[in-house]
Amino acid sequence: THFAIATAEKPPSKPPYLDPSLPVEKRVKDLLKRMTLEEKVGQMTQINVTRLMGEDEWDRGPLNEEWMKKVFVDNHVGSILSGGGAAPVPNNPEEWAKMTNALQRYALQHSRLKIPIIYGVDAVHGHNNVLGATIYPHNIGLANSWNPSLVREVYERTAKEVRATGIHWNFAPGADIARDLRWGRYYETFGEDPLLASEMVGAAVTGLEGDKLSSPDRVAATAKHYVGYSHPLNGQDRAPAELSLRTLREIFLPSFERAVQDGAETIMVNSGSVNGIPVHASPYLLRDVLRKELGFQGVVVSDWEDIIKLHTVHKIAPSYKEAIRISINAGVDMSMVPLDAEGFTKNLIELVREKKVSEKRIDEAVSRILALKFRLGLFENPYVDEKKAKEIIVDRADRDLARRAATQSITLLKNEKNLLPLKKDLSTVLVTGPSADNPANQMGGWTIGWQGVENPDEMPPAVTLLEGIKGKGSKNTRVLYEPGVPPEDQDDDPEAVDKAIRKAVNAAKKADVVIAAVGETPYAEGEGDTTTAALPPSQAKLIRALKDTGKDVVVVLVAGRPLVMTETIESVPAFLMAYLPGTEGGSALADILFGDVSPSGKLASTWPKRIGQLPTFYNRQPGASYDPLFPFGYGLSYTSFRYENFQVPKSAKPKDTLRVSVTVTNTGDQAGDEIVQVYADRQYQSVLSPVERLVAFQRISLKPGESKRVTLDIPVSRLSVIPGDILGTEKRVVEPGTYQLRVGNLKKTFTISK
Ligand code: BGC
Repeated sequence: THFAIATAEKPPSKPPYLDPSLPVEKRVKDLLKRMTLEEKVGQMTQINVTRLMGEDEWDRGPLNEEWMKKVFVDNHVGSILSGGGAAPVPNNPEEWAKMTNALQRYALQHSRLKIPIIYGVDAVHGHNNVLGATIYPHNIGLANSWNPSLVREVYERTAKEVRATGIHWNFAPGADIARDLRWGRYYETFGEDPLLASEMVGAAVTGLEGDKLSSPDRVAATAKHYVGYSHPLNGQDRAPAELSLRTLREIFLPSFERAVQDGAETIMVNSGSVNGIPVHASPYLLRDVLRKELGFQGVVVSDWEDIIKLHTVHKIAPSYKEAIRISINAGVDMSMVPLDAEGFTKNLIELVREKKVSEKRIDEAVSRILALKFRLGLFENPYVDEKKAKEIIVDRADRDLARRAATQSITLLKNEKNLLPLKKDLSTVLVTGPSADNPANQMGGWTIGWQGVENPDEMPPAVTLLEGIKGKGSKNTRVLYEPGVPPEDQDDDPEAVDKAIRKAVNAAKKADVVIAAVGETPYAEGEGDTTTAALPPSQAKLIRALKDTGKDVVVVLVAGRPLVMTETIESVPAFLMAYLPGTEGGSALADILFGDVSPSGKLASTWPKRIGQLPTFYNRQPGASYDPLFPFGYGLSYTSFRYENFQVPKSAKPKDTLRVSVTVTNTGDQAGDEIVQVYADRQYQSVLSPVERLVAFQRISLKPGESKRVTLDIPVSRLSVIPGDILGTEKRVVEPGTYQLRVGNLKKTFTISK
């Protein structure tokens, strides 16, 4: 009795894993030993939120008790996502926060050990699924800014907004390298160069995660899609990639390496195959390279339904169960959308009981997932303040950032007779083209819906080109508008096309200058694959007709990739690439067109003349031709810059960092930003290495007449190659010899000794 009284008096003690003062590893260990196999396997499962709404995968509506029970109670599922942006109905910040809170509450109430769920979403250019959120330029545009700190800011704001809706995990940034513009996900990349992309990926990861993941304004990042995803055969999304290990390591791996170095919590696996092995089944890529070489310690998540695809698509597994065995043993920690929770958890439990997947492997995966949940502070703060979501998401400061981001991304590629900037005292301007007053087109895919905004009632905030220009001219400037193309449902009707063009031509005759915004309609993933990358014929026809009026025509291209439209570009005096500039696209374009800001974007990827040149990229190996319409790194300004006094040390060793410097002067009469780009030219090496590669860059701002001494540090390791003709685990080495560096037209040689 004495004993009984003593224990009764003792306050019920919390298990160690609930003690936030303990280190994460201790908490994980303690929690793991209390979990059943069923509970562990549940943590490795991620279900699409629409599944909680009903039987049909894509049903939207209120959360459904029966399905909630199946997922959380019967299968102990530990993670939810909103695939393709699947939103609550109605879609607004508060409803999102209410939904995630409701899910969390249900999950916690039904979790024996009170393990919170982690919720993931694709917020790839702002919190793009939530109505009212500001939309930033897509990555390909941001890459043209060559401004990693801008990218950090954009992703920082995105993190804050995502977390405000109770979402903890962002499937971003894309760390794929643009190699083939036929591929429909080109715009999700930061361009074709491994160094530029790595800097941007690093900035995005640190912007999302910050120093303290448990802060209420941070989320876990995902570098995706590891690795070689952007190199599918013929540019078709998820087609097999044939990729030499040299190219894989020199071109495709560095951006993932950078993500790991900068602390990316998660990596998403390439849905396709590389050299005959689906990446979801590759212990070489998922273990030897990612874990052992790169030292990644976070969570490896599959892409959408990709485990079963080892059975149904890739045909390397004769059953779903076998597909699960292969991918979990290869190193996939979490299964995103395993069709239904049951099939996955039931099979995986069986596999463990049959000793085909070891308990150790399960513990390894679950430990990483739990560690992430602890680091995010989810055990302490599982809910968000529903009332605050809107205030955080609808914020004027975002609009300013979005405008700055778009302004720095937009790239001037042609400007004959100095047609631009336009004079503010023009008497009449015609604004025309299908993207001149079309917010959906300037947002692109992954906006509200997977394939972009479809319902005009669900448009994110937007300033179109037409609206931007209306605010720009003098009081006396008249702005005319004609779409120049027929309504969407008549766009195949030649008569309707001609009629729309005729109207635009008549308006052009009254104008001093014509601004025509043409380009693509939104798309995502495979829906955006193309075999032509051409401007739609009716739009090319519109430009021809406008040009034939004898008026000056400025063409603005709103698209997710360079389009192959050489004749059109050659026929007009001025050409501006906007990419997918987002909410403030129209303001930014007007700022540039009317000279309030000098354009400063530089192409982060090569612009081909002909589709048959593909694939083409500047960092080609010797022997390959390079004859683009506009090369990598190209972009015009309203001012001019002079480079002088390029200083490079005469020699260095492989482990050194080379400090180089150059003086840049703004020799024009307008303030402007310049991107200082340093390239290393290949001299002689034991294997083929790029003819030219970017080794350092920096964005600088200069007032008219102003000079700056720019200093850049170049780790000599950036000149490394992988020697030898049989590849596998070979390391990169810097070979001794003579190298050349170039900035602008200035060149200097230096030697590397052993
Ligand atoms: C895409 C991923 C995305 C996932 C979830 C997949 O189809 O490939 O990039 O994160 O869907 O929406």
